[in-house]
Amino acid sequence: MLSVEEARERMLDTIPILPSEKREILECTGYVLAEALPATENIPPFDNSAMDGYAVRAADVKNASEKNPAVLSVVEMIAAGYAPTKQVTAGQASRIMTGAMMPQGANAVIMQEVTQQEGDEVKIFESIDPAGNVRFTGESVAEGQQVMQDGKHLRPPEISMLASLNCAEIAVYRKPTVAIVSTGDELTTLGEPLEPGKIRDSNRYGLYAQVEEAGGIPIDMGIAPDDEAETERIFRAALAKADALITSGGVSVGEHDVVKSVLTRLGEINFWRVAMKPGKPQAYGIADGKPIFGLPGNPVSSLVVFELFVRPALLKMAGHKDLLRPTFEATLTETVTNRDGRVNYMRAILTASDGKYIAETTGPQGSGILHSLVLANGLITIPAGVTLEAGETVAAQFLF
Ligand code: AMP
Ligand code: MG
Repeated sequence: MLSVEEARERMLDTIPILPSEKREILECTGYVLAEALPATENIPPFDNSAMDGYAVRAADVKNASEKNPAVLSVVEMIAAGYAPTKQVTAGQASRIMTGAMMPQGANAVIMQEVTQQEGDEVKIFESIDPAGNVRFTGESVAEGQQVMQDGKHLRPPEISMLASLNCAEIAVYRKPTVAIVSTGDELTTLGEPLEPGKIRDSNRYGLYAQVEEAGGIPIDMGIAPDDEAETERIFRAALAKADALITSGGVSVGEHDVVKSVLTRLGEINFWRVAMKPGKPQAYGIADGKPIFGLPGNPVSSLVVFELFVRPALLKMAGHKDLLRPTFEATLTETVTNRDGRVNYMRAILTASDGKYIAETTGPQGSGILHSLVLANGLITIPAGVTLEAGETVAAQFLF
């Protein structure tokens, strides 16, 4: 059996990064930058005031205090968005607004709260160092500076930065389109009556939501019955429509199942027994350069295997460099036993308490008990064959 880390590494090595495309800035949130961006302009583009107040020569207010104010004559008012028209010479000041351009001659801004203007004169009750309350040209970003590298995840701050760099169109990696197929004669679509022996198809919906959450574009391809020809037709149609294919069900070891033989005919598919619970049987491969993920049918297994394997793969396709969620230590509130020879990914509620995380499991943990995930906000990892007492720590990660 492969460990989770070995299996994931092997799988990720084969995952292609999708080509880039140009997109309008407002359609780039969540995408990954596919170019390096040097600044073509200074930010800010000119020296400006960080305060509403008075632009002065620091030397003129050197000894100013509450008792001994400096008195300066006000030569003009400079609003944000307008260039000054007057120079500030000895004994003078310009009224200035936040973001307005500094006038020639002035080298500091006194904030309004320590001044008092009467007519064309202003009393200044505090001194200031040269450069005080001035934002200098290029102090945020200097022209020519590399601001963002290829591979940068475009979150709101990056979008804002792209706008301040005047980038209206940006090269980003394509997001993967992902076709999703459920398999099994027992599955019933929503709205249909449940005949004896049938169950609702939940995986397709859960996987659809997971693909969206991972930044992919899901394509619902319905249910494939346990019929070889029909399954092959649906899998091929799904693959033709998307950058990747996810199937659920029919990959268990020793099972007489049509899914495995159909997957084998699509491309280079490996059937893996990964040393994890839930989710031991999994199938991975590439067909026509497109990844295929054959997930187990049990609802918890399907969701957990997506989280640990498919999510990082979709992130890689979309150009991300950080593929895994961070793990941290959490303290158990109860004793847990893993008699299995496989790592158990238990569903847990992780809460911050006194500067550390504590973990409480979410009740029965069978791979069909979807409620164990609904109650959880994270996974904890119980190594094979151990009992951990309350108070001991485990590796934990948040989900979703
Ligand atoms: P399989 O891997 O196909 O043998 O399925 C394992 C278990 O998961 C069986 O109990 C199936 O009925 C169940 N199962 C398979 N596919 C789905 C699905 N799409 N939604 C809910 N349960 C499923
Ligand atoms: Mg099945």
